[in-house]
Amino acid sequence: MTASTRTHLSPALKQATPVVVDYAAGSWIYGTDGNRYLDFTTGIGVTSTGHCHPRVVEAAREQVGKIIHAQYTTVMHKPLLALTEKLGDFLPDGFDSVFYANSGSEAVEASIRLARMATGRPNIVAFHGGFHGRTVAAASLTTAGTKFRSGFSPIMGGVHIAPFPYAFRYGWDMDTAVAFALQELDYLLATMSSPADTAAFIIEPVLGDGGYLPTPPEFLEGIRRRADEHGIVLIVDEVQAGVGRTGKFWGHEHSAAKPDIVITAKGLASGFPISAIAASTELMSKAWPGSQGGTYGGNAVAAAAAVATLDVVRDEGLVENAAKQGAVLLDGLKALKEQYSAIGDARGLGLMQALEFVDENGKPDAAAAARVQQTAISEGLLLLTCGALGNVVRVIPALVVTDDEMAEGLDAIGRTLKRAL
Ligand code: PMP
Repeated sequence: MTASTRTHLSPALKQATPVVVDYAAGSWIYGTDGNRYLDFTTGIGVTSTGHCHPRVVEAAREQVGKIIHAQYTTVMHKPLLALTEKLGDFLPDGFDSVFYANSGSEAVEASIRLARMATGRPNIVAFHGGFHGRTVAAASLTTAGTKFRSGFSPIMGGVHIAPFPYAFRYGWDMDTAVAFALQELDYLLATMSSPADTAAFIIEPVLGDGGYLPTPPEFLEGIRRRADEHGIVLIVDEVQAGVGRTGKFWGHEHSAAKPDIVITAKGLASGFPISAIAASTELMSKAWPGSQGGTYGGNAVAAAAAVATLDVVRDEGLVENAAKQGAVLLDGLKALKEQYSAIGDARGLGLMQALEFVDENGKPDAAAAARVQQTAISEGLLLLTCGALGNVVRVIPALVVTDDEMAEGLDAIGRTLKRAL
């Protein structure tokens, strides 16, 4: 290597914005370019308590001085015990057993491993447009775009993909879409993956990267009924929707369906990497000791930050704030939809909202979504695209977003649409 050779980040990374962060606080990112940006991306739905919430910073800082890494299958540490106890305050009844990893993908993998061990069955049914991660097994459950799976086949076998009730895309009302998707799920169980071979259903409460499509309560309840009937494990992937984001602590709480395994990550520690799966001890004990693990899982600093995050979520009423601000956001987005025919749909739950863009023929318009996302940057607003077809712009404010920030964000979206459409 010569002295002049510079190392660059891999071109395999696709940058959504040119912003380089100097520092960040709450809903705001301050760039090295001297500009400040209203961050409605939150690191893809991660910085739940806003950037650098003082209580999260303090908890992490204090923990760094005590112990950073105490591999939790070697020596246990206090933050993980505290987190496990605290999570019990938020988990559904009967979810008394937790396993920790670092990322959403790892937790998804752990849940698949558990479901297969618990049932002795090989197959997993996921839903079209779902996103469950980028590791090979998680990617094989992911159909939120071919970029997540093509070029590195073969991916994991034993996965079947069932239709998701994407009513807007079909041009149907929701009842018709749900009835169709449940009928096709039955057809799949009758023709492709017999119940005797099916270990688990895995679904997000709101399809995230696949387009911010709330899972209709009746659909989740229909899946639950089939899981009960056939002894299939229902895994709810709350990686993006959990920890208050949808205006309830868990996204699945918008329905009456109770999962068998809950997966959480992203918002759990306000940006520190930690993920978890939770289930009943009865189910969890079907994975024998040593069958789950990992060097860094349940890191002490991340666990301390997670405890502080859950305290802040409770003490500052952030679930309630997500519901309140989410209603304002959805109203604002729906009003904009009335103004622009390029907006085919405005939808979401809580602070997980989106605009879906269509062309003059009503077909998905990914170019319009990209223009909106890019134009917003010069309006001081950070947004992300999503959607299996790339034609959705998602709006993901921090759960601490204030009335003024929400008003400012909606103004910026309005100015952006005027320029970009
Ligand atoms: N599941 C869902 C629902 C997600 O949104 C994501 C991340 N976007 C993942 C799993 C994967 O998480 P990670 O990127 O931490 O592996």
